[in-house]
Amino acid sequence: MNDLSGKRIAIIGAGLSGIAVARGLTQRGAAVTLMEKSRGFGGRCASKRWEVHVIDHGAQYFTMRDERFREAAVAACGDALVQLNKPVRDENGHELPDSGRWIHRDGNSRLARDLAKGLEVRTECQIKDAHSLLAEFDQVVSSAPWPQTAKLFGIEPVFDYLPCLAVVLAYHGEWIGRSRETYAFSMPGKALAWAACENHKPGRIAPGFTVLVAHLGEAFSREHLEKMPAEYPALVRSMVEEHWEIPADAFASAFGHRWRLARVASPLTVPTLPARMHFVGDAMRRSRVEDAWLTGHLFAQTTSFES
Ligand SMILES: Cc1cc2nc3c(=O)[nH]c(=O)nc-3n(C[C@H](O)[C@H](O)[C@H](O)COP(=O)(O)OP(=O)(O)OC[C@H]3O[C@@H](n4cnc5c(N)ncnc54)[C@H](O)[C@@H]3O)c2cc1C
Repeated sequence: MNDLSGKRIAIIGAGLSGIAVARGLTQRGAAVTLMEKSRGFGGRCASKRWEVHVIDHGAQYFTMRDERFREAAVAACGDALVQLNKPVRDENGHELPDSGRWIHRDGNSRLARDLAKGLEVRTECQIKDAHSLLAEFDQVVSSAPWPQTAKLFGIEPVFDYLPCLAVVLAYHGEWIGRSRETYAFSMPGKALAWAACENHKPGRIAPGFTVLVAHLGEAFSREHLEKMPAEYPALVRSMVEEHWEIPADAFASAFGHRWRLARVASPLTVPTLPARMHFVGDAMRRSRVEDAWLTGHLFAQTTSFES
């Protein structure tokens, strides 16, 4: 691929795809600036410190099936990568296939932070109009979810993302109910589509507590999307108690999070974009951490920026 020395490239969004583009283009000699609207990195690969715990309320784990992603993750994170060793089951309790489920020891958003080490990143920098960036940069690559990118580029989005409500619930006491032998239940299509016990992530949950994460299915999420996130736990609590065989009223605290643009159901065919504007992100493949990173990595390997 051609040398990009002297080219100034703006990248919108410091999620996995934006970081992969930034790394790849930097390696080709470009002067790259990442601009992220939030304070932290990772986008939907999100973690937060909550009470005395570290919780992944976005991507729960990641796979490393692709050798290029594995190499990059291992080089950036080293022994902070931890493999989960308890199964994910379907609604009937059968174990689902496991090609390796990995987490970052300190919270999954740290995967993004480690992969971004050494890159120039402007955080708390929300771009309102991508065209105005062309005064300072030669090219603009947006990794914001497609509806947001389309708005920034001034074109029609015409592509739907699925929403997802997330709820995190904690109780005092360790390993009540079915939590010890099972990391998670995956039940696509159900109201309670995903329910995981965060205690299987070593060092994340303070001793004497158990924390469960629930993700609500598409129909349920759409129905309740406009409620306040603080209202979500009350909607979900009894489903989680019943599923995990946890005594009623054991949960002592909870929070909810709204993912309006959580995932894509099928890959987006990217329409013709304005000159010097580009898009990368999970929407081009599928909504997985590894796939998001690959879209950015492949874009950086193959784009010449010559036309
Ligand atoms: C609830 C949930 C659970 C998931 N579970 C899993 C899982 O278990 N395993 C898995 O592999 N994947 C999972 N995923 C999918 C995975 O998180 C995503 O596919 C992946 O993180 C997408 O990365 P991305 O870089 O394409 O987009 P994003 O992570 O969305 O990154 C886009 C970035 O752009 C920033 N941005 C947006 N607009 C602007 C603007 N105007 N100016 C500046 N910055 C902007 C955003 O703040 C964000 O940081 C899950 C996703 C969700 C929501």
